[in-house]
Amino acid sequence: MSSVQVAVVTGSNKGIGLAIVRALCKQFPGDVYLTCRDPGRGQAAVAQLQQEGLRPLFHQLDIDDLQSIRALRDFLKEKYGGLNVLVNNAGIVFKVHDTTPFAVQAEVTLKTNFFGTRNVCTELLPLMKPYGRVVNVSSMASSSALRGCSQELQQKFRSDTITEDELVQLMAKFVEDTKRNVHDKEGWPNTAYGVSKIGVTVLSRIQARLLNEQRKGDHILLNACCPGWVRTDMAGPKATKSPDEGAETPVYLALLPSSADAPHGQFVSDKTVKAW
Ligand code: NAP
Repeated sequence: MSSVQVAVVTGSNKGIGLAIVRALCKQFPGDVYLTCRDPGRGQAAVAQLQQEGLRPLFHQLDIDDLQSIRALRDFLKEKYGGLNVLVNNAGIVFKVHDTTPFAVQAEVTLKTNFFGTRNVCTELLPLMKPYGRVVNVSSMASSSALRGCSQELQQKFRSDTITEDELVQLMAKFVEDTKRNVHDKEGWPNTAYGVSKIGVTVLSRIQARLLNEQRKGDHILLNACCPGWVRTDMAGPKATKSPDEGAETPVYLALLPSSADAPHGQFVSDKTVKAW
């Protein structure tokens, strides 16, 4: 088993994920895994970074596929005995003018952004080594979607005692409410992406609390963040930040020094903790 440190970035064949891998290859003192669902796209991205003189490694990972997540888990366990840095970056969005029915958009978006990310956490968080760093890439869209929720939902999502099961039930309820076309009446905002990212931010708050309760002595720091508005296939060419600039906050959180005990369980944007 290798004693080398290891970092994993999900959805990193392009966009912000690729830029996070680039930065980690330059700054992280260990192996950095570029992961993505399609090995062809992954190898092409690895080749691109190799051209820049960097040495990322590759592992397949489709966050929608539990078998794929478990294969990565087993690989990390066997080769490294755990994991030092996990960046949950993979995500999807339907474009504004997409005519796919809202209920389908809700189901598909939640499946990857919330349930897929949660499955990765369920399988990989137990592998985190002492002083590990976990970064869940959420979005400012989570904060605006939160403000668009009913007072009752806002209270639940801001609660310091909400459990992971309760959050999962709420996310599943959103999808069901869109199918019955009652999401508006039930207090949900009209954004599947925004609700999925509420899920990511609240999940991060819950996971950080559990780490405090169960693994306090391990000094693991886990946060959600927004990368900013970044020029990628997701956000388009008019966005204000380059992918490398978008990677700055996630990479800052991934490389918090071992002496740091904060931020933890926060929502961070431009390297600054934001109110939730
Ligand atoms: P992007 O260029 O569209 O890249 C998204 C990445 O996620 C791709 O590598 C994609 O892989 C991957 N992905 C999607 N579904 C996946 C799955 N099931 N399993 C594994 N990988 C999967 O988007 P981006 O702008 O870089 O976004 C990265 C993250 O930042 C997302 O979580 C996004 O919500 C968040 N974010 C972005 C912005 C922005 O302005 N761009 C703002 C706030 C938050 P494929 O190539 O195979 O599709």
